[in-house]
Amino acid sequence: MSQTFDVIIIGGGIAGCSSAFQLAKRGVKVALLEKSEIGAGGTGKSSAVIRQHYSNKLTARMALHSLRVFQNFEDEIGGECGFTPVGFLAVVEAKDQAGLEANVALQREVGIQTELLSPKALREIMPGVEIADLVAAAYEPEAGYADPYLTVNAYANAARRHGAKIFLDTEVTGIRFAGDKVVGVDTPGGQFDAPQVVNCAGPWGARVAKMAGIEVPIDPCRVQVSFFRRPAGHESPHPVFADFIHAFYVRPETGNLSLVGVIDPSEAEARVDPDDFNEQVDSDFILHTGEQLVRRYPAMEQSQSAGGFASLYGITPDWHPIIDEVAGGFFTCAGFSGHGFKLGPAVGVIMADLVTGESKPQFDPHMFRFSRYTENDPVKGQYEYSIAG
Ligand SMILES: Cc1cc2nc3c(=O)[nH]c(=O)nc-3n(C[C@H](O)[C@H](O)[C@H](O)COP(=O)(O)OP(=O)(O)OC[C@H]3O[C@@H](n4cnc5c(N)ncnc54)[C@H](O)[C@@H]3O)c2cc1C
Repeated sequence: MSQTFDVIIIGGGIAGCSSAFQLAKRGVKVALLEKSEIGAGGTGKSSAVIRQHYSNKLTARMALHSLRVFQNFEDEIGGECGFTPVGFLAVVEAKDQAGLEANVALQREVGIQTELLSPKALREIMPGVEIADLVAAAYEPEAGYADPYLTVNAYANAARRHGAKIFLDTEVTGIRFAGDKVVGVDTPGGQFDAPQVVNCAGPWGARVAKMAGIEVPIDPCRVQVSFFRRPAGHESPHPVFADFIHAFYVRPETGNLSLVGVIDPSEAEARVDPDDFNEQVDSDFILHTGEQLVRRYPAMEQSQSAGGFASLYGITPDWHPIIDEVAGGFFTCAGFSGHGFKLGPAVGVIMADLVTGESKPQFDPHMFRFSRYTENDPVKGQYEYSIAG
């Protein structure tokens, strides 16, 4: 016996759960099918940094919208997201100073609270930072990080409260079409029918699209983070710090730890089978991130490694998602690369507007259309010094 819905969402990460919530809130009959559990993909392992430092107006507006949701999570969504507003600092070297300044101007134009800081002023916010190689910094006092697992489960629960049905341990194995219109999906437990299906399968996004006969450029790539225990006199919390010179970021983690990841386009080369990859952190990675951290924050010489882990990004050629109807009634909302968590609240609104054919959408997702790759019009940061978006 098949079950019939208005919309089927494939994947219970932040994109799927936020979309399910926004659609269910509008009275749409939603089924979300997740092959494992809520947050089992990249979302549950996300560093969940929430910054607005973007170089496109659209992504900056999405990040700002989402920040307001994280700040008022209990009222807006219900439940907890663990938002911790420690602030965000980004630093660059001389060649990128003009870009940083232009970015901050763009962000202020869309209403983001951010400012330029001299290296000396930066040190007042984060004492102990090495500033000899810095020319400029950007500061966002409202930014911080959240708990991704709490957040995505709160979205799933909010979707359920609005009537969405969430099916765990339910893997989509096929997508059915009648002519050129999608009509449903297959799972080992039976068929689900709906005239609209949304692929929110993150790093599995290309596999799921292939079931519909569509090739989307989303590579599942292994990424790592490491933890370091902070020495006496330098305890957490500290602001989130993005070092675009040494290509790493660091944020506080529970238990007087700092969590360190890299900001490196070469992560796109670490393609893996998303169902079979090494989830342990490499010792080389711990060594590398430890060295970078100490260069920027010499007191961390006294810190101790506290391990780490590896997880997945779903990376597109321009590090931006595909959010589009890629076949009749079949949507893809995946490929968020390394920055999709913080945009999650806005992404749900975009998907609900797209799927319901809202005549006055809150955001125009044209920039994320699938055809941009064949049109040779990828998303580019207006003032780009990294993969920050
Ligand atoms: C280590 C790490 C650090 C990060 N740091 C940040 C950060 O600081 N800030 C930020 O904004 N972003 C960050 N990101 C990126 C961000 O977490 C991701 O972009 C975002 O969580 C992706 O969400 P998603 O819903 O698209 O995909 P996922 O969370 O990967 O969800 C996809 C889901 O689809 C399910 N699925 C797959 N195939 C099927 C199928 N056939 N049937 C049913 N279900 C299926 C999977 O089980 C999975 O649960 C980080 C990511 C990682 C891994």
